[in-house]
Amino acid sequence: MTMKKWVYQFEDLDIAEQYVGGEWEAVRGLFGGKGANLAEMCRLGVPVPPGFTVTTEACNAYLDDGGVFPETMWEQVMDGMDALQKSTGKHFGDRDNPLLVSCRSGAKFSMPGMMDTVLNIGLNDTTVEGMIELTGDARFVHDSYRRLIQMFGGVVMGIDDDVFEEVIEKTKQMRGIETDTDLTAEDWQAVAKQFKKIFRSHTQVNFPQDPEEQLKMATEAVFKSWNGKRAVDYRNAAGIAHDLGTAVNIVTMVFGNMGDDCATGVAMTRHGSTGEPEIEGDYLINAQGEDVVAGIRMTHDIAQMKQEIPAAYDELKEIAAKLEQHYREMQDVEFTIEKGKLWMLQTRDGKRTAQAAVRIAVEMAQEGLISKKEAVLRVTPEQVDFFLHPQFDPAAIAQAHGRGDMVAKGLNVSPGAACGVVAFDADLAEAWAKQDQKPVIMVRPETKPDDVHGMLAAQGILTSRGGRTSHAALVARQFGKPAVVGVAALNIDMVKREMTVGDLLIQEGDEISIDGNTGEVFVGRLETMVPDIQDPWLIQLLSWADEFRTLGVWANADYPEDAQRAREYGAQGIGLCRSEHMFFETERLPLFQKMIMADLSVDRREALAGLLPFQREDFAGLFRVMDGLPVIIRLIDPPLHEFLPDLIELMQELTDLKLRIRKAATLTEIDGLLQQLRIKERIRERALALREQNPMLGLRGVRLGIHIPDLTRMQVRAIFEAACKVSKEGITVLPKIMIPLTGHHNELKVQREALEEEAKRVMAEQKSEIDYKFGTMIELPRAALTADQIAVHAEFFSYGTNDLTQTTYGISRDDAEAGFLIEYMELGILPDNPFATLDKDGVAQLMQIGITKGREVKPDLECGICGEHGGDPQSVALCHTMGLNYVSCSPFRVPIARLAAAHAALKSDLK
Ligand code: PEP
Ligand code: MG
Repeated sequence: MTMKKWVYQFEDLDIAEQYVGGEWEAVRGLFGGKGANLAEMCRLGVPVPPGFTVTTEACNAYLDDGGVFPETMWEQVMDGMDALQKSTGKHFGDRDNPLLVSCRSGAKFSMPGMMDTVLNIGLNDTTVEGMIELTGDARFVHDSYRRLIQMFGGVVMGIDDDVFEEVIEKTKQMRGIETDTDLTAEDWQAVAKQFKKIFRSHTQVNFPQDPEEQLKMATEAVFKSWNGKRAVDYRNAAGIAHDLGTAVNIVTMVFGNMGDDCATGVAMTRHGSTGEPEIEGDYLINAQGEDVVAGIRMTHDIAQMKQEIPAAYDELKEIAAKLEQHYREMQDVEFTIEKGKLWMLQTRDGKRTAQAAVRIAVEMAQEGLISKKEAVLRVTPEQVDFFLHPQFDPAAIAQAHGRGDMVAKGLNVSPGAACGVVAFDADLAEAWAKQDQKPVIMVRPETKPDDVHGMLAAQGILTSRGGRTSHAALVARQFGKPAVVGVAALNIDMVKREMTVGDLLIQEGDEISIDGNTGEVFVGRLETMVPDIQDPWLIQLLSWADEFRTLGVWANADYPEDAQRAREYGAQGIGLCRSEHMFFETERLPLFQKMIMADLSVDRREALAGLLPFQREDFAGLFRVMDGLPVIIRLIDPPLHEFLPDLIELMQELTDLKLRIRKAATLTEIDGLLQQLRIKERIRERALALREQNPMLGLRGVRLGIHIPDLTRMQVRAIFEAACKVSKEGITVLPKIMIPLTGHHNELKVQREALEEEAKRVMAEQKSEIDYKFGTMIELPRAALTADQIAVHAEFFSYGTNDLTQTTYGISRDDAEAGFLIEYMELGILPDNPFATLDKDGVAQLMQIGITKGREVKPDLECGICGEHGGDPQSVALCHTMGLNYVSCSPFRVPIARLAAAHAALKSDLK
């Protein structure tokens, strides 16, 4: 039996590939992302310090076995160490030439800062001396030793980092200095000594002097960190599976803190916020990696490296280009320069804002690095949403500047505008946001992985320290939270729970606004607005998306302004104009109520005649905007009582009126009040008469049109008068009249015949011919099941999935989302909210039956969807698969639906 391989040298990538069957994803699964990429960089000839990976399989075996290393794993690790000794010429634990290694976690999917790392393993009281002789740099060696004790203490033994940091702070205060770099060798030596004492007092054992024991304990700690609370929380939030495990990478130490010809840094091969094709990042001279990410020292912009360490900068640029060429993706790298020599410690796909994702995808396609299809697939429909996110109104910003409300500026690391009350810790931010429904801005000196739950709950994140690649920036970007970091002018006092900027005092609970696009911080609340999508890269990306998609994207719009926006966003038609919305407007509601109240048909006709000009102008406006594109106008749908005052309010008004009559002083006053009373009583009678137990299943939709034929006839007249008028202006009008809530084909037949007669009459009167169509909504299960009969009388179908979901599930769409449905989702009874994402197994099945049956009768029957699901990416994909002709959604969702439709087409091509 061959021995199971748990450990792979970076050079052994080929063996690993063979083991997993050649798939890169599987290699990543085995080595974790970090290990796989280190091995790949090694193969590419990029300078990587010698090292090896203990696989995720080993981690899983360790965890499954209740914390025991699998058989032979440790022997293989020691063999790996032998190989490192050979390639470096150094020896683990040797006094005179000690080999030092780092022990780093690395899972398949990046989980920044969620799991553990220990550096400088191999240092002890003896090797420290040898290292000093070897390097001649006592300061560096003592600093490295205290880092090992600190990290080991925190990661392996669970000692709170603040206990260690306090010692450093006190030493600096005692010595009257501000930065760590000013501490001397003696200072660090004393610090390390105190750290050992702390270690002993917290753990009752001495800091382990045996390097092998250090490595073993660190490896175990990394394995265990996979199941640590913050890692589990992060995986839950990011949707990462819990059974992947982490690998452990054991890598020869290289040092960025051995003097001024040393440095360490992090960089993105393109700008992570804007997508600009320039290296972006931070670095520190004479420092170790964690100093940069922790945001403890103010980092330098990578552009400065060109002057400070030109040779290393040029090499880094070259490597960045090489990595991008190889991975065909923007990379996020970590590097260290030891005595002028550049080493790459990590590469991975870079996290980016939505804005950057779009620009990078488009420019990489234009550079020929990826195809247009890949570019389209690299941006998620949800990312497009950013471009439609609230931003501050420029006028409000100008006014705030004028008032002096812009109080500080930091780095603009994650775009979007956010306002809220200041909360200084994650738990409070979460409590205020969730329990009190208060918008919150979470403010911290810097964030740590434990803060993620607060960051997710907050509207935005503000920190006084940290750079573009700090924890706060990375997490904010990933979750699309506006964030401003590194606002040095903020003095945060965590004890008093307040912050000052100059003389200004801001207390916890005070309202502030932050602009993730500019990095500006304001006191008070600023007006927000939704941006126009003018981003040239987005326009390009969406136009490529349009080349690939086969599904049309239309919009639901009632008013010309909505239609205008929909058209600008790329809508190819209006899929739903809810014509009754116009009746709710102030000048029209009394007329509409009069129509409802009328006992005699003459009175009703008179009221309807008053409404006609309004409807005609409404429709004319829509037709003008949509010149050349179809406009579906749905005839009145809701139950009539919705247009009358609320019964309870009405009762109250009646009681008030009666009281006033009793107290009235004059006869004229009484007369006036009596008249009002009579009108209100009639309304009450009517409202009572119209009251239904289940109004959503009552007199609505096509039933109304049949019950009050004059009403829908007036609407059809308005549509055709408008169409004739606008078409005479030279505009191409393509009206489609849609009848709602059909359940039986006879309903449609009767209604259509009556309405088509009216349409013809108007066209004859106007001496005009309009190209029109009659169709119906399919929003009842019976309609879907009898779609073949219905299709005889319809030229198109539009699925009203709001009602279809309601009637299929038998769940009220108006109440459920505030009640038990939430509980159902929390309990996992339903995977998604069926009113947001199409129910694949139920509602979508009915739709499919309807499409198939409808097209059996009319093969070219046009089928679309106009329920809310039309703008949901997952549902759009389903609509593509079902063979719908188009989706219709709110104008703001149109760009998202365009991209989602392209994804659906491209992904189904790949199958
Ligand atoms: C629907 O039911 O899906 C629909 C679009 O109509 P409404 O929401 O107006 O009922
Ligand atoms: Mg409906």
